[in-house]
Amino acid sequence: MNRPAIDLACRPPDLPALHAQAFPMLTAAQIARATPYGEPMLAPAGSVLLQSGGQEAAFHILLQGTVEVLECEADGAMQSLLVHRDGEFTGSLDLFTDRPNAVTARAASDSRLLRLSREALARLLLAEPTLADIVLRAFMLRRISYLRQRPYGGAILRSTMGVGRVDPVLDLAVIGGGPAGLAAAAYAASEGLHTLLVGGSLCGAQALGAYALPAFPGTLTGLCDGGLLRRAETQSRHFGSHVMPQRLATAFDSASYPYQVWLDDGQVIEARSLIVATGLAEDGSGQGNIDWLEGCLDTDDRGRIHTGRAAAGSMQARAYESSQPGVFAAGSVRAGCVPQVLAGIAEGAAAVRVVHRFLDASAH
Ligand SMILES: Cc1cc2nc3c(=O)[nH]c(=O)nc-3n(C[C@H](O)[C@H](O)[C@H](O)COP(=O)(O)OP(=O)(O)OC[C@H]3O[C@@H](n4cnc5c(N)ncnc54)[C@H](O)[C@@H]3O)c2cc1C
Repeated sequence: MNRPAIDLACRPPDLPALHAQAFPMLTAAQIARATPYGEPMLAPAGSVLLQSGGQEAAFHILLQGTVEVLECEADGAMQSLLVHRDGEFTGSLDLFTDRPNAVTARAASDSRLLRLSREALARLLLAEPTLADIVLRAFMLRRISYLRQRPYGGAILRSTMGVGRVDPVLDLAVIGGGPAGLAAAAYAASEGLHTLLVGGSLCGAQALGAYALPAFPGTLTGLCDGGLLRRAETQSRHFGSHVMPQRLATAFDSASYPYQVWLDDGQVIEARSLIVATGLAEDGSGQGNIDWLEGCLDTDDRGRIHTGRAAAGSMQARAYESSQPGVFAAGSVRAGCVPQVLAGIAEGAAAVRVVHRFLDASAH
């Protein structure tokens, strides 16, 4: 078969535009819409709002003052990452997952804030689509870009600009760039997997597509097991992850491994694992977007992919894993997923953990 080489070359990032979307300033009207969902609070200078490594987290809109975000270095020293100012908000995708906080946030001056619990934030985002778009886009970009600011981030970024060779086999191909796919790609990339995100429109796939997602050697969340770190180190010498927002997957070959996925421009990608996050058909039928899978996976009668113990033939099924080992499903295309944006994000993030386990097991 004629197989055009896939172009994984990276475009340079538009960092100022990226920063503005990752750290937007809410208008007075937007803050007013959020106010009924939160509790006003005063934070004296030095008080901690969010503790790195902790599970307890809330969303804060800064009404007046300054909040500093810090990361804990390996030697225990705290390094300042950024300072939030009036109208900005704290938080990251971790608010929708059970992952520990990656950073510490503390008031840098006496500050006035609006505090929303995780549950209140979820209610706000469901009720206010404009705010949801701003907040979710910011969280996605933060997940990817805050690691970029670390001292070695620049070196890795430069390495994506044309030095060395791209490993043609991906660790992970994420198919579908809705909330589930975007969250999966953001976590996978930041945790060092050589990742390609194919397709998508919601929550700023275009914004993400403006640059390549770099891979970084591990995260600050304490979730790094040996395999994850090993892959992260390898990836830091190679290339980061990539986004192809305009492309669609058209066919899947489950008979070969690494798996092959055909794209609508004729390119073929090879991947050791796949997350299918293609959502439901837009015609209102509730059917999963799985035509391109050509019946390779066990689904329910509406084409939503069975995973875990529900997947046919799965004896020791991993959560989110389909009837095909190494092929995972997340978001509304997965049978049993709650059809909500936040559930999609949580599933995409959670599926990446299982991908790590699959890749570790298959490497031995
Ligand atoms: C009318 C409507 C209103 C809704 N309102 C709300 C609401 O208010 N609040 C809420 O929380 N949820 C709401 N939802 C549900 C919410 O939109 C979904 O739960 C959520 O988008 C699911 O995310 P996902 O990532 O799984 O899938 P999707 O958001 O559907 O994303 C899937 C992506 O995959 C892409 N794709 C499809 N096929 C391919 C392919 N072959 N190759 C590559 N890419 C592909 C699609 O273009 C799309 O970008 C609503 C849904 C609908 C239909």
